[in-house]
Amino acid sequence: MSLIQHLINGQLVTENGRTADVYNPSTGQVIHQVPLASRETIQSAIDSAKAAFPTWRNTPPAKRAQVMFRFKQLLEQNEARISQLISEEHGKTLEDAAGELKRGIENVEYACSAPEILKGEYSRNVGPNIDAWSDFQPLGVVAGITPFNFPAMVPLWMYPLAIVCGNCFILKPSERDPSSTLLIAQLLQEAGLPKGVLSVVHGDKGAVDALIEAPEVKALSFVGSTPIAEYIYSEATKRGKRVQALGGAKNHAVLMPDADLDNAVSALMGAAYGSCGERCMAISVAVCVGDQVADALIAKLVPQVKALKIGAGTTCGLDMGPLVTGQARDKVSGYIEEGVSSGAELVVDGRGLSIAGHEDGFFLGGSLFDRVTPEMRIYKEEIFGPVLCVVRVSSLEAAMQLINDHEYGNGTCIFTRDGEAARLFCDEIEVGMVGVNVPLPVPVAYHSFGGWKRSLFGDLHAYGPDGVRFYTRRKAITQRWPQRASHEASQFAFPSL
Ligand code: NAD
Repeated sequence: MSLIQHLINGQLVTENGRTADVYNPSTGQVIHQVPLASRETIQSAIDSAKAAFPTWRNTPPAKRAQVMFRFKQLLEQNEARISQLISEEHGKTLEDAAGELKRGIENVEYACSAPEILKGEYSRNVGPNIDAWSDFQPLGVVAGITPFNFPAMVPLWMYPLAIVCGNCFILKPSERDPSSTLLIAQLLQEAGLPKGVLSVVHGDKGAVDALIEAPEVKALSFVGSTPIAEYIYSEATKRGKRVQALGGAKNHAVLMPDADLDNAVSALMGAAYGSCGERCMAISVAVCVGDQVADALIAKLVPQVKALKIGAGTTCGLDMGPLVTGQARDKVSGYIEEGVSSGAELVVDGRGLSIAGHEDGFFLGGSLFDRVTPEMRIYKEEIFGPVLCVVRVSSLEAAMQLINDHEYGNGTCIFTRDGEAARLFCDEIEVGMVGVNVPLPVPVAYHSFGGWKRSLFGDLHAYGPDGVRFYTRRKAITQRWPQRASHEASQFAFPSL
């Protein structure tokens, strides 16, 4: 069993203090120890970032982008190795791990356009001999705190863009599956990133609090559960930091009576059970408009949920691996119990699944509930497991009211052939990311990602154009070069044309 290291100032650093266990969820065995950084370790990462900043901010954007071009190549060359590490510690299938890496690489590609995205704006002759422009300048030292469920993609939402914008970045990845995140950061060093521009420090609340309290850290990006997002947002904004904190979700799919049901069922299976439901964009509620749609949906889902191919994530060709920890599996099982006792109809029960050769793994089969109602905890709360709840309503308006009343507003989608219904849904639904016949509407890297309501605390979404704004501050410069012979009289009225 090895002790994972931090990456600080371009060096792998061993810390012999507090540690946490990292499991292989397919076997249930502890495979690594991860250090939980002390305040001194966090401070050393901050010091190295501060020291690297003056040179990095003055490095031409095109040179910064060249590092990202090499980084992209290294990520592609190492896809198999990275996917294996993700799968070993997270439990998701190799194909799913490769998919998240590809979506992460999209963000590196966007960062490669640094000279274009940092061009700024220029206006000549805004007054006599006066030109004006606005510049996008870096903030300095910024930090990111990321969740376990996308150990490659979510960090890549953050630091490639922050770094090409001229900032130095400290990443605190999830302590549950840190190895792929660390390897990816090492590949960025190999691509030629100067030391200190990116550091990776592992840890728990102690490390996060040290980042929140450090005056040198100017901005924090967070992705994780809503209670922690809210905590980080309130504590860090109190200290004057810029914060974007993306939280949890409960994503609904609306099935209209005219939907192409077979295709909707295929889409729902992947969106509800892919990655064991451990995605912030996973569909966890199917809202059926009319009993006929609900009955037909249940009839088609039941055999497919029962037939899910489940096993160790590192085995090719599976639909689902295990949950990330035994605690996560027990929490999801607890919700299933709770759903039954609150009166929902458990149509498929995924509990008690045992995989031959992996009896100690954290496995659960897919579960399906029918006749779920809005006051039930399984409806209100994020389960974050392979559980799909079917809610029956009588109209599109009732479906939309249900979604708009929910505390979360991350993603949603509608399955329909009716353009008018789809348009109404897109216009009126109070959710940040909406799909029309697209179950997981995760925006591509040149748009931005973010939910509404209690799924996001802050004003700017992650990555894309919002990411550029988040990691830069604008400076408006007005410049006059008077003609040599002219005399300028004092002007006491407010300057205007
Ligand atoms: P989590 O909130 O437990 O942990 C996220 C990060 O916060 C980790 O780095 C963790 O070490 C740190 N952390 C945990 N407890 C803390 C505390 N008390 N104080 C300070 N920091 C703390 O989330 P998770 O279980 O790793 O990830 C799953 C959650 O993330 C789900 O709720 C999911 O919906 C959400 N998520 C949201 C998005 C999104 O874009 N909205 C994307 C991915 C995941």
